[in-house]
Amino acid sequence: MNNVTRSTRRRPAALAVAFMAATLGLPVMAQDKVLNIYSARHYPTDESLYGDFTKATGIRINRVDSDDAGIVARLKAEGAASPADVILLVDAARLWRAESDGLFQPIQSRLLEESIPANLRATAAGGGVTWVGLSTRARIVVYDKSKFQRSDLDSYEKLADPKFKGQLCIRSGSHPYNLSLFGAMTEHLGADATEAWLKGLVANMARAPKGGDTDQIKGVASGECGVAVTNTYYLARMMRSSNAADRAATERLGIVFPNQSTWGTHVNVAGGAVARYARHHESAVKFLEYLASPAAQNHFANGNNEWPVAKGVTLDNPALKAMTGGSFKSELIPISAVGKNQVRVQQMLDRVGFK
Ligand code: FE
Repeated sequence: MNNVTRSTRRRPAALAVAFMAATLGLPVMAQDKVLNIYSARHYPTDESLYGDFTKATGIRINRVDSDDAGIVARLKAEGAASPADVILLVDAARLWRAESDGLFQPIQSRLLEESIPANLRATAAGGGVTWVGLSTRARIVVYDKSKFQRSDLDSYEKLADPKFKGQLCIRSGSHPYNLSLFGAMTEHLGADATEAWLKGLVANMARAPKGGDTDQIKGVASGECGVAVTNTYYLARMMRSSNAADRAATERLGIVFPNQSTWGTHVNVAGGAVARYARHHESAVKFLEYLASPAAQNHFANGNNEWPVAKGVTLDNPALKAMTGGSFKSELIPISAVGKNQVRVQQMLDRVGFK
């Protein structure tokens, strides 16, 4: 009842604004008070991030949550009828693929171009930004300190060493985080050596791949696995957990950022773009700019234990600092190369029986 009254009262004002906008040739702002986000960010700590945006701008957020593949499939099925304004994905190769599939539209934003380093965003052929990386995460190795030493595992290549037979725990090979890691390995080692390496990983598995990265960490903590592969934020989340058992579990772990003496540790990107058929274009750009702001970047670092990407924003996260001892060397290969290798990597996985 109250709502009806309120919207009835508001209508003349809204009409007046629309009329004024039309007369002055300005865009009608009233339509921009809602924003439809398709998000693969599966992190509960992000809620406050969305809430703060609404508080600051009055723009209400409708969110559809799915994984990267689910979002891409939905956008393709919806086509020009899609209500999506902003798309958030959590894997660089998937961002690259979605761009190639024409699911994004280039935007003009000096703020994004100035705050996000060029190697972490995609530039459209005709100028403008197609998508931006908003945070990074490293894909690292954890091991049981009572069984192995850091030098046993200081490179991804060593994960295939027969000494780890029956020791390796890793999530599905087809998960985007692994497809990107293996796509990067293909760039570094070549296809033949990468396939041989993947075969070695399969031979070393402690169990068939199951669960997410946290399950692999817990596998090492429980003694079921000697070594595991995980994104950094899952480990940091356990290190900072309010659950004492989780914190204690991480104390058993050795942590390695692989390939520090060669090409650097594999780093992935979570990022966003404006959807090709976005109806709330202005709000969509505003939201991406908000995610590049110091406040949101600090949220990525402190709330979800990721590395901020915006220039001038420094990391303030004790778990990530403890993990790296300050800083680490990350690989520098083009994201497009990792993206292009995905189909080939999936074929390799099928051949070597990496589920
Ligand atoms: Fe994740």
